[in-house]
Amino acid sequence: MLTAEQLKEVLKENVINLRFHARGGQGGVTASNLCVEAFYGYGVCQPMFGAERMGSPTESYVRLSANDDLVRTNEQVYAPHVVAVLDPSLLGEIDVTAGLAKGGWLIVNTVLNQVEIQDVVGRKDINIGTIDATRIALDVLGRNITNTIILGGIIRVMPIFSIEALGDAIMRRFKGEVAAKNIAAIKQAIEETCVYDIGKDPDFTVDTKVPWQQVFPGLPGYKEVDKAGVWYCDEDVIEMGSGLVNTGSWGEYDMIWDEEKCTDCAQCWYICPDFAIIREKGEDGLWHMKGIDQFHCKSCQNCLEVCPVEAISKKLKQGPASCAAPEN
Ligand code: SF4
Ligand code: SF4
Repeated sequence: MLTAEQLKEVLKENVINLRFHARGGQGGVTASNLCVEAFYGYGVCQPMFGAERMGSPTESYVRLSANDDLVRTNEQVYAPHVVAVLDPSLLGEIDVTAGLAKGGWLIVNTVLNQVEIQDVVGRKDINIGTIDATRIALDVLGRNITNTIILGGIIRVMPIFSIEALGDAIMRRFKGEVAAKNIAAIKQAIEETCVYDIGKDPDFTVDTKVPWQQVFPGLPGYKEVDKAGVWYCDEDVIEMGSGLVNTGSWGEYDMIWDEEKCTDCAQCWYICPDFAIIREKGEDGLWHMKGIDQFHCKSCQNCLEVCPVEAISKKLKQGPASCAAPEN
């Protein structure tokens, strides 16, 4: 692990690239902004929202250097030295380590350990820091907003800015109790980050950008599906529709339905944004609630709030952290 002094030397003639993976609404962009605001030198950050929607995967990028000439590009960060993952469910959905330099750092909000993460991302040549940021966020902030907490993990493994500078940046952005709670959460995160150091640092002079590659998703070419110059979608050929999107992986809670308490009022069905309330027609010819579709439920909790008889409750998906040193 490089010290703050060694990183200052690196930053004189190099750029340190960071990439944040989050979900819409989790504050990944704010985290990247705070990096630049807390950094003593020059920095730029850019967001990439994709299909902008609460819960959908987002990315944001940061370039930091003491040399202002080196941070003038605005393209996405394809060759990060640090990758921060704010939501554990993204590990299996996105190639979060794409282009990450050997000896770079993957900081993840998770309760998994080094070996489990290596298995998911398929890399053993990177350093890993883990932090149960969801638990800290719920305990300290009262909401599952992990963006500032993950910055504590970055300070722990790569101190490119100090907790004091980050605290100042947070106090400029947030006020009073909110700022104080965020700073307390970051300090807790620095203490609790599990560090899996492979004893190698990234080479900041090497561009590890992965060349763009054509991805063949198994779809037919336009000549097979094109009719009179117009694309049409044949569901036998191309599976499509939001029904295929596993929005159930976006949320931090399992929602639990209590059939005994439920009065079948259907208020949850009206309010659910993801059609995750299952209702079926009964022998009486009427529609009745049958449960919650966990594949699509993104745990927005609208149903929990609207239910007049408390027939819906929630259970945190993320279990206790596993920070024990792996045996191999
Ligand atoms: S928490 Fe309730 S309202 Fe929200 S997606 Fe899940 S079932 Fe629908
Ligand atoms: S809002 Fe509550 S009582 Fe009404 S159908 Fe949904 S779970 Fe049942």
